[in-house]
Amino acid sequence: MKRYTIAVRALCEFTAKTGDLDLRFTPSPTAQEGIAGHATVTARRGSSYQRELALAGDYGALHVRGRADGYDSAANRLEEIKTYRGDLARMPDNQRQLHWAQAKVYGHLLCATQALEQITLALVYFDVGSQKETMLQHEHSAAELKRYFEQQCELFLQWAAQELAHRTARDAQLEQLAFPYAGFRPGQRELAAAMYTASKRGVCLLAQAPTGIGKSVGSLFPMLKAAAQQQTDKVFFLAAKTPGRQLALDAVHVIRRSAPLLPLRTLELVARDSACVHPELACHGDSCPLARGFYDRLPAARQAALDTCLPAQQQRLLDRQTLQDIALAHQVCPYYLGSELARWCDVIVGDYNYYFDQSAMLYGLTVMNDWKVSVLVDEAHNMVSRARKMYSADMSHSSLRLLRKIAPEALKKPLERVQRQWNQLVREQEDDYQAYSELPEKWLGALQTAASAISDYQNEHPTYIEPLLQEFYFNALQFTRLAESFGPHALFDIEKRAGRSSAHSDSILCIRNIVPAPYLAPRFQLSHSSALFSATLSPWNYFHDLLGMPDNTAWVDVESPFVAEQLRVKVAAHISTRYQHRQQSLLPIAQLMAQQYAAQRGNYLAFFSSFDYMEKAAQTLAELYPDIPQWSQTRRMDEAARADFLARYTPESCGIGFAVLGGAFGEGVDLPGARLIGAFVATLGLPQVNPVNEQIRQRMDSLFGAGYDYTYTYPGMQKVVQAAGRVIRTQTDRGTVYLIDDRFDRAELRALLPAWWQVESFG
Ligand code: SF4
Repeated sequence: MKRYTIAVRALCEFTAKTGDLDLRFTPSPTAQEGIAGHATVTARRGSSYQRELALAGDYGALHVRGRADGYDSAANRLEEIKTYRGDLARMPDNQRQLHWAQAKVYGHLLCATQALEQITLALVYFDVGSQKETMLQHEHSAAELKRYFEQQCELFLQWAAQELAHRTARDAQLEQLAFPYAGFRPGQRELAAAMYTASKRGVCLLAQAPTGIGKSVGSLFPMLKAAAQQQTDKVFFLAAKTPGRQLALDAVHVIRRSAPLLPLRTLELVARDSACVHPELACHGDSCPLARGFYDRLPAARQAALDTCLPAQQQRLLDRQTLQDIALAHQVCPYYLGSELARWCDVIVGDYNYYFDQSAMLYGLTVMNDWKVSVLVDEAHNMVSRARKMYSADMSHSSLRLLRKIAPEALKKPLERVQRQWNQLVREQEDDYQAYSELPEKWLGALQTAASAISDYQNEHPTYIEPLLQEFYFNALQFTRLAESFGPHALFDIEKRAGRSSAHSDSILCIRNIVPAPYLAPRFQLSHSSALFSATLSPWNYFHDLLGMPDNTAWVDVESPFVAEQLRVKVAAHISTRYQHRQQSLLPIAQLMAQQYAAQRGNYLAFFSSFDYMEKAAQTLAELYPDIPQWSQTRRMDEAARADFLARYTPESCGIGFAVLGGAFGEGVDLPGARLIGAFVATLGLPQVNPVNEQIRQRMDSLFGAGYDYTYTYPGMQKVVQAAGRVIRTQTDRGTVYLIDDRFDRAELRALLPAWWQVESFG
């Protein structure tokens, strides 16, 4: 008989959670506060107290395991410790019941292990603010706890049997899984082989693989193929943006179409803001009908979503729309139904943040359930900037001022204290911008107090919803969390911004992560294998160092399917695009464009470092060569405007589209064949030299000895290669790229260009 292993908490969440979804009591203490709270409580106990007791027991096919927080053998008391903030009386009853359920299951496991006839179970609630404990206790006989344990297991057994059957069928099909197409595309086999080997060896992989080789199928297929052999529980396919998620879902479609007997439960996770059908309401039963009775209706919704009664070929792919339809049919919240289904699906497609950010759901579930997971990270050149944002926080003085005006009376004082401390910091700072090696403790203390007061207020006034207050509260929480782990990987800085008058001036306080490695490394270590792939992952040490990838990370540079003859790459070495030479560069750039356009009419993209530069260049071309059709990116373009810009690129059209490097059209744009035949890149893409970047440069220098390259050169050149990469999308494409700046002639920059490019200089 196959065993099904389940954590105590997961078992209880499945069997003992009823009633409303209610997030009012959370987010409560930070992870660090939780750990510190547990340590404080257990340190107060005597010598007969055992901490973190590993316990396990079986029932039928079930193997239930977990760690009880503490057992005092002298008092024969088993403790389940929970840290909290706010008013304990406001904790929803179903949350309390869940805690008792866990305590009872641990109680049984302990009685069974130590042959105890009875035991006292205690829920110890520790207030991280006052450091006080509230203990609730009950005595139970071993027989009573055994009955309870067996009841919970009985409730889960049928589901476990279904899950075991699903897993057996899934793995049997995965073992036989054949590549979904007649053959591999050039480069695709190399990528797939590297992925498969990395998974087999249980190591991480950085894969630089050019566009057009079919990366989505080329990465998902080998990870699935390896899953049965490696006994992997789940594959997480993470993307930087929505179109990336669609590519992953398309890859699942293709694989499932070619293997109709493969039961592959696939789920698309979307952000709460996008999934929510009642954005005007709050996530608890008193406000939202889809939260009211959520856990009572969840079992039926879960069963329906997984199509457990249907043959594999009829099981639905749980994309956003399908999930929403199921959720609404069962009157439960689509977002939280998605979070629940993540526990039961095999492939989960979502944004990076689901595994990598501070409170990442998929990471949390992996830890709790001890899953073996493979992680695929698409367009991974975005990871550095995205992860930095996940571990940064900023607050503006102007928002605080606004909030103080409208805040409820009870919050005015705590907010005023924050502002007083803030004003002091700003007064003491002479320069407009300054980075500090230490955090302002007094200001942080005031912020923490204000956050606690807001949390209490929200608990007492569940229907009070004020977006400004919510925003401030979440920012404050983020700030205090990041303050706990502040170190050389981050900057704390204050920027003063002058206004028309002192009432209009502002200041921004920021914890700015610049090296996400310390936060991401545990995530890579936890995964069985993580594969990061993109067309631009050079140089690999930049990503390895900043992302905290393990030292045994493998690296593959997949050979391009394209050949040098497809792309003429020309360096316009007679032009400088440096800030001080921009005015003089406008004329030769316009002449160059016109010359190329005359030689070969068709569609082009022209990239510049800023809107200002781009607009001047577009204007110069329009004045000198009015016959050349042109169109430009504008600031804050919405989705429809972006689509209009791209719609200009048809196989029959001609003209030049002006865009900003690193913006909406610099990557992720697919214009094959005659839709795009060339690009002009009039910038090295270097980030602006400003006080923040100079701070980053200094820190990069001290950490990695490569300040300038890690701050300016590598991020800039990645954008250049991404932008130029828009031209050749298929093996039949032909095109021309102009790299406009004399510095493109330098050997160290040339080394960062794709190996298959043959670069020639002129001018
Ligand atoms: S529908 Fe919206 S408001 Fe209601 S529980 Fe879901 S996310 Fe919250």
